[in-house]
Amino acid sequence: MNGDALYNFAKKGEAQRMAAEELLKLLRACPYCGRSFLPQAHNHKYCSYECRWNNRAEVLQQRRNRERRHR
Ligand SMILES: [Zn+2]
Repeated sequence: MNGDALYNFAKKGEAQRMAAEELLKLLRACPYCGRSFLPQAHNHKYCSYECRWNNRAEVLQQRRNRERRHR
């Protein structure tokens, strides 16, 4: 569940809003796409595997570009 789904859920009623507020405290922002998500573990950093791999691929690409510039 991401932040948007949680906000929609909160609109359904008082009980849902309170439950959503509890979850919103736990929300974390994805450093890759900036979307908020609920971490499933303390080391859960990205909202999806896609972002994790995209970020990894970009870091590797930047490192490669930097090496090329030094030559
Ligand atoms: Zn993401």
